[in-house]
Amino acid sequence: MENGKKRTEKKRREHSAARSGNLQGCPHFGKCGSCQYLNLSYEEQLALKRKTVRELMEKHCKVQAIIGMENPYHYRHKVHAVFGMDRKKNPISGVYEEKSHRILPVESCLIEDQKADAIAGTIRGMLKSFKIKVYDEDTGYGLLRYVLIRKGYATGEIMVVLVTSSPVFPSKRNFVDALRKVYPEITTVVQNVNNRSDSMILGDKYQILYGKGYIVDELCGCKFKISPASFYQVNPVQAAKLYEKAIELAGLTGKETVVDAYCGTGTIGMIAAKSAGKVIGVESNPEAVRDAISNAKANGLKNIRFYRDDAGHFLQSCAADGISVDVLLMDPPRAGSSEAFLEAAAKIAPKRIVYVSCNPVTLERDVSFLEKKGYRAREAWPVDMFPWTGHIETIVSLVRK
Ligand code: SAH
Repeated sequence: MENGKKRTEKKRREHSAARSGNLQGCPHFGKCGSCQYLNLSYEEQLALKRKTVRELMEKHCKVQAIIGMENPYHYRHKVHAVFGMDRKKNPISGVYEEKSHRILPVESCLIEDQKADAIAGTIRGMLKSFKIKVYDEDTGYGLLRYVLIRKGYATGEIMVVLVTSSPVFPSKRNFVDALRKVYPEITTVVQNVNNRSDSMILGDKYQILYGKGYIVDELCGCKFKISPASFYQVNPVQAAKLYEKAIELAGLTGKETVVDAYCGTGTIGMIAAKSAGKVIGVESNPEAVRDAISNAKANGLKNIRFYRDDAGHFLQSCAADGISVDVLLMDPPRAGSSEAFLEAAAKIAPKRIVYVSCNPVTLERDVSFLEKKGYRAREAWPVDMFPWTGHIETIVSLVRK
């Protein structure tokens, strides 16, 4: 019954997309789960996203025009391809079909970087002559499971991560040489060993096969080191606009004490540090904090410090210690912030709060809470970080009443 229902829903979506005849030339719509809006024009998507934000936020503040992309294609600078076999045992690469473990072969994708797609295709073509078997999920035999490609937007540096089921990779040196001959722009190649049975792409073991093991990108005048597993916005063009708007709304004059909560690898805080007195970043993921600290060093920033802690707990101790904060920047995950965090924020009473959100529903909930605690929302800026998908990013600036 459930399956029958799912099939009908899929058929209905495919049918409605085909009828609208506006799939942007993507043959995978309805099968691949990435894009939901290929049957809408880009203008229609922007209007729909802004409408969603307006419906939630207009009772709080003015909702500005959505910041969209000039060219909403091939924006993903992090691409992964799943490797497997077709019925005739030929290697294929692509994505898992929506909610399944069947591989949908994909040659090129409208939202992925084209060079990254080409590299995945070239690797697939090289497997036979190097006698590399792709991994078979059912039997556990075979070596190559996934290929992850990350590209720096400003620098053009490219990292290729070959995810294998075992650390033994025969003729890896020749394989890397042959790949680099085709793409000299590949600056590093890493092998990652993943023998897990879930759908996580990366395992815990890494071996650098070529180069430094990471790439560097530049955004808003700061350099960022990107390792295979680092969090870094997948759409750097829009990330730059998002961060610039957030910093503009923070209204920094060079003297302020700023907290960057849920700071990840420290991107927003580091950009803010150039026009603030000092910045305090807090983040719960230890690897992200490590990257943040080394990024700050590489940028020669001396007025920023990072702490590994739960953001709510950290802010409560700041409140208890009577630390004075002028501006609070916050960028929580989809679940939004905690009441403990928001209570502590209100106690510390920064003049301004800039809330960056990837989920307008929890954003609205948290803004309502802050309004009860003495803040007034001034404006909301939707930013389209993920064209053709349903994801909505929004920045809201709040001031102390
Ligand atoms: N501002 C960053 C990352 C935002 S993603 C950027 O733009 O790159 C949200 C971050 O919140 C993630 O790095 C996640 O690890 C972190 N996080 C999630 N829950 C947290 C918590 N309770 N306390 C601190 N950080 C948390």
